[in-house]
Amino acid sequence: MTDIGIIGLGNMGGPMAANLSRAGYHVRGFDLSASACVAAAEQGVEIVEAASDACNGAEVVLTMLPSGEHVLDLYRNGGLLEAASPGTLFVDTSTIEVGESRVARDLAVKAGHRALDAPVSGGVVGATAGTLTFMVGGEAADFESVEPILNVMGKRAVHCGASGAGQATKICNNLILGISMIGVSEAFVLGEALGVSHEALFNVASTATGQCWALNTNCPVPGPVPTSPANSDFDPGFATALMVKDLGLSQRAADGAGVATALGKHAHELYVHYYEQGGADRDFSGIINAVRESIEK
Ligand code: NAD
Repeated sequence: MTDIGIIGLGNMGGPMAANLSRAGYHVRGFDLSASACVAAAEQGVEIVEAASDACNGAEVVLTMLPSGEHVLDLYRNGGLLEAASPGTLFVDTSTIEVGESRVARDLAVKAGHRALDAPVSGGVVGATAGTLTFMVGGEAADFESVEPILNVMGKRAVHCGASGAGQATKICNNLILGISMIGVSEAFVLGEALGVSHEALFNVASTATGQCWALNTNCPVPGPVPTSPANSDFDPGFATALMVKDLGLSQRAADGAGVATALGKHAHELYVHYYEQGGADRDFSGIINAVRESIEK
C-alpha cells in the first residue's frame, strides 16, 4: 500500500489524513500546531518532527495549507523536495492562486518530481465524511495514478486540464456560489417586503428556474431547509472569511486575464463588508443580513 505524507493537519487536512489512515494507508503527517498533531495521531496518523520527514519513503505528498505563500515557502525552504525520492507525486489540495500553483508545480518538476493542483469543495463536513470533490490540474497520467487516493477522501475527482486548471475551476465555481447566494438573499428580502412568506418562495423557486445550491441546500433563511446554517445563527458551513479569500482569488485571476467580472467584483465587496461588520466566522449565507440592511437604508 502506498505511503503518504501530509503537511497541514487543520480543519481540512486532519480529517483527510484520518480517512486515509482508516483506509489502510501508512500516513506520515506534520503540522506546526501541536493540537492538530495530537488530534491526527489519535486517528492513526504517524506524526513526524518536520515537514521534510513526512516525505521520507512517501510516494505521494499532500499539502493542505492556508495560502499559496505557505505552500511556496514550504516547497522552497522546507526541505520537502530534497527529502523526497525522485518522481514523488506532490499534490497540493490547498486553495491558492492559479499562478502560485504553477510556480509550485515548476519547483517540484525542477527537483525531479511530479505535481498536481487539487483544491477541494465540500468543506469540513465533506472532509470528515470523505465526500469532497477534487478539481485537479496537471498531467493526465499523474491524475490517474492518484485517483484511488483522492477517492478515499472524496466522492468525485475531476481532471480539469493542465497545471493550474484545478485552482481555476475552483475559483470559478466559488464565483458562481458567491454571486448566487446574494441573488437568493435579495429574492427573500424582496419577498418579505412584498408580503411573500419564506415557505411560499422556497416551495416555488426550489423546484422552478430559481433552484441552485445556495437556495436548495444552504437556504439563507431559517425554516425551509432545516439543516442550513441559517437555522443555527449562521454557524458555518462555509465561513465568510473563506468566501472573501476565494472571491479575492477569482478577482485577481480575472484582473490578470483581463476579464471583467462585474458581479463577482461587487459580490467580493459585499462579502468584505459583511466580514468587517462581524461576519468573518459566520456562514457566508449570513450575507442576507447585509443585504437586508442595505435594502432597509
Ligand atoms: P486550517 O487553518 O484549519 O489548517 C491549516 C493548517 O496548516 C493549520 O493547522 C496550520 O497550523 C498548518 N500550517 C501552516 N503552515 C504550516 C507549515 N509551514 N507546516 C506545517 N503546517 C502548517 O485551514 P483549513 O480550513 O484546513 O483550510 C486549508 C485549505 O483548504 C485552505 O487553503 C482553504 O482555503 C481550503 N479550503 C477550506 C475549506 C473549509 O471549509 N475549511 C473548504 C475548502 C477549501
